[in-house]
Amino acid sequence: LVEIKNLNKSFGSNHVLRGIDFTVEQGEVVCVIGPSGSGKSTLLRCVNLLEQPQEGQVFVRGEEITDRDCHLDAARQQIGMVFQQFNLFPHLSVLQNCTVAQITVLKRKQAHAEQIARANLERVGLSEKVTAYPAQLSGGQMQRVAIARALSMDPALMLFDEPTSALDPELVGDVLTVMRKLALDGMTMLVVTHEMAFAREVADRVVFMDGGVIVEQGPPADVIGNPQHQRTRTFLRRVL
Ligand code: ATP
Ligand code: MG
Repeated sequence: LVEIKNLNKSFGSNHVLRGIDFTVEQGEVVCVIGPSGSGKSTLLRCVNLLEQPQEGQVFVRGEEITDRDCHLDAARQQIGMVFQQFNLFPHLSVLQNCTVAQITVLKRKQAHAEQIARANLERVGLSEKVTAYPAQLSGGQMQRVAIARALSMDPALMLFDEPTSALDPELVGDVLTVMRKLALDGMTMLVVTHEMAFAREVADRVVFMDGGVIVEQGPPADVIGNPQHQRTRTFLRRVL
């Protein structure tokens, strides 16, 4: 579903991604782990071209989105993104947060958009909150709205950048439960996370990044359970 070839990204003289190659298959859940500053967020942002790489290619469903002639908005529509900070519209209700892009971008009719939004809010356990405003919600609830909003666009792929890092510990579980359910439903997911228990349980594959390269990747039982590289072991010793 996603293919990344020789991706290189620099900010000035800071060479952040140094020739990343990797793929995500349809229905696969890939967790990206690694120390702060290793380029995890930049990698995710290159997948939906929030950042332009200097070199390399990104293909989504066989279409090169890094191609200058690619219709970027159409390509991005297939990709849902959930950030550490939820980025909800504060002046819109929960339901409106989940319908606005459907109406403006996908040109869906209001009633149809609301129907889809309600179904996705139910999916994340927030049917009771459709009329609430973001300020009236807990962080965990806001993040679940952000997930429902992304799902309402019918993405082929969901990107998550540390979706639980800004949450109080007691709220993390609800969000992870929703993500686990999504994975079981067959959603293709690329997840940057520090939640090793989640990665171990839910990921089909774990990618360990350090210094802008993929140091090792494989099933969680290998990468987390029995890492081959010293850098991976050092990292895991700090986070486990
Ligand atoms: P963390 O775990 O702390 O979120 P990360 O692995 O996500 O770290 P990135 O956010 O991808 O790391 O950052 C990698 C490097 O790129 C860092 O050195 C960072 O300072 C730099 N960087 C990221 N975004 C920008 C930007 N917009 N402009 C300049 N430098 C940036
Ligand atoms: Mg990051």
